Amino acid sequence: MSIDFHAEAEALRPEIIARRRDFHRHPELAFEEVRTAEIVANTLRDLGLEVQTGVGRTGVVALLEGAHDGPTVLVRADMDALPIHEENETEYASTVAGKMHACGHDGHTAIGLAVAKMLAARQDEMRGRIKFVFQPAEEIGEGARAMVADGVLENPRPDATIGLHLWNTLPVGTVAVTSGPSMAAADIWTCTITGHGGHGASPHETRDPIVAAAHVVTAVQTIASRNVDPLEMAVVTVGSIHGGDAFNVIPPVVTLKGTVRTYTEKVKALVHRRLHEICAGVAGALGCTAEVEITPMTLAVDNDPALSERIAAIAAEVVGAENVKRDERSMGSEDVSYLMDGIPGCYFFIGSANPARGLNKPHHNPRFDVDEDALIIGAEMLARAAASFVLPE
Ligand SMILES: [Zn+2]
Ligand SMILES: [Zn+2]
Repeated sequence: MSIDFHAEAEALRPEIIARRRDFHRHPELAFEEVRTAEIVANTLRDLGLEVQTGVGRTGVVALLEGAHDGPTVLVRADMDALPIHEENETEYASTVAGKMHACGHDGHTAIGLAVAKMLAARQDEMRGRIKFVFQPAEEIGEGARAMVADGVLENPRPDATIGLHLWNTLPVGTVAVTSGPSMAAADIWTCTITGHGGHGASPHETRDPIVAAAHVVTAVQTIASRNVDPLEMAVVTVGSIHGGDAFNVIPPVVTLKGTVRTYTEKVKALVHRRLHEICAGVAGALGCTAEVEITPMTLAVDNDPALSERIAAIAAEVVGAENVKRDERSMGSEDVSYLMDGIPGCYFFIGSANPARGLNKPHHNPRFDVDEDALIIGAEMLARAAASFVLPE
């Protein structure tokens, strides 16, 4: 008996869109998703799921237990908004000044609830269980780790993790499923360069950390261009430089801050080593000292090849083979990687742009919005992907 998820997702269209617009009107920042989590928890309880709240502070976990034994699949949706003031004038625009769903997580939450509804009606036939994970604080890279610390990957441990992101670089009606690494591991690096401050007119009596910092900024560009294999991927960015307050003073300290993006542990280790060597070496040559600190923010999203093939085949049935992209990669990061750490997973993208309607602004832009048809496609995709583990064909 095959299930017509297409018809079911279409039937849920008004509900999915209404929910997404409600979340859009009421955006909540990382770890403040109290209203959103309450709606999520109540909706899931009404569906008969076993619901846990306060997992990773504001996260919600719900278990849909099948009548028969089988695998456990984790379905992830993130809930948080961004500190951006919305510039759209839609009737569902943000009602909170300075906060906005500018990444599409409002849609992810609405999709997750629709998937729970479709699958909750199939509990009697289900072999195994689905763990729905509504995650907080993706945008600051902390929500997934907070949920892992609270045991989201135990009791029961998932056999697979799946999830999706609405994707405005692809047109609505397309789906991207990439095998292997498709989003980067992100680290935050800081370099503190210490010299000796003094009068701007007497540089010979100082050790100038500003000049040293300038050379460090230039020299770290050689990590990606001269050290990393050109067939591999790496980004080293300096995003902030702070030092000095006055035009005639050489300050004692300059601080650099930036991000490292990599796909593999091997390249990551190389970049970290070179950052330490270059910062210490260049600053040292100029009479200063450098201290480098690197903090991991997310792991790489590394999609399981076999699972990706299966989900790509589902995508071909949903949107047509010609609309399935197999090589959509980004050096952006996603903390869903912590829910896929040691667990086969697939995180895929649902095209959500519609240039003809002006719905093609980049994620995190104050005029970001999606073509809501993508929500229905996303709900069908995620329901079918989850069902492929626990429901007979
Ligand atoms: Zn985002
Ligand atoms: Zn996002």
